[in-house]
Amino acid sequence: MTIVDNLAGIRAEIRALEQKYGRRPGSVDLLAVSKTRPVEALRAALDAGQLAFGENYWQEAEAKLTALRHPDLRWHFIGPVQTNKTRPIAVGFDWAHSVARLKVARRLHDARPETLPPLNICVQVNVDGEASKAGIALTEVGDFIAALRPFKRLAVRGLMALPAPRSGLEAQRRPFAALRACLAGLTAQAPQLDTLSMGTSQDMEAAIAEGATIVRIGTALFGPREY
Ligand SMILES: *Cc1c(COP(=O)(O)O)cnc(C)c1O
Repeated sequence: MTIVDNLAGIRAEIRALEQKYGRRPGSVDLLAVSKTRPVEALRAALDAGQLAFGENYWQEAEAKLTALRHPDLRWHFIGPVQTNKTRPIAVGFDWAHSVARLKVARRLHDARPETLPPLNICVQVNVDGEASKAGIALTEVGDFIAALRPFKRLAVRGLMALPAPRSGLEAQRRPFAALRACLAGLTAQAPQLDTLSMGTSQDMEAAIAEGATIVRIGTALFGPREY
């Protein structure tokens, strides 16, 4: 299978799952997770109409951002944000999905150029509550988002999670349902929160069933990663 075939298959699957779960057609966006992939792989997807790419490491992303040019191309940072990389991320990316520390948010805000629209932000939530996992606790999301309000160079769009792998649709839906309920509890006061970034190649159906608006797909699109 080529990247172009995989892309067409995933797009068809997303449309079918929107229908299956009563989601509005076109309400789930595909983010192509391109970490570890060579620029040729991204170009193949771009040429087939894929315009949103997710990268995890600035060191690796830099050359791809330089090599690929398209007016509608959008770059999403989805990896852990190191404080010494906030400037290039704030300049080069359109979204950051993995914001979970106020210090990181402040630095992204301060570095976001006035010439660009505000940087879109998702707050990463530790839905499993495991100490080893990145993200803030579900119970602290409201306070954290309130603390981001002064940062006018950031557009807080919603929540992101990467739950521990589970097998079976029902088990996979549980953490996504928790994230969805968390967002629903916030939108009365913050209607601009319109994004649930959740679901990978392993659990895309569960995420779409629970309201994902962005699914982050790497392996199913580009094949197994080699490190
Ligand atoms: C790598 C990665 C993905 C994609 O995972 P696949 O299983 O390859 O689809 C999604 N989200 C994050 C945060 C990732 O790091």
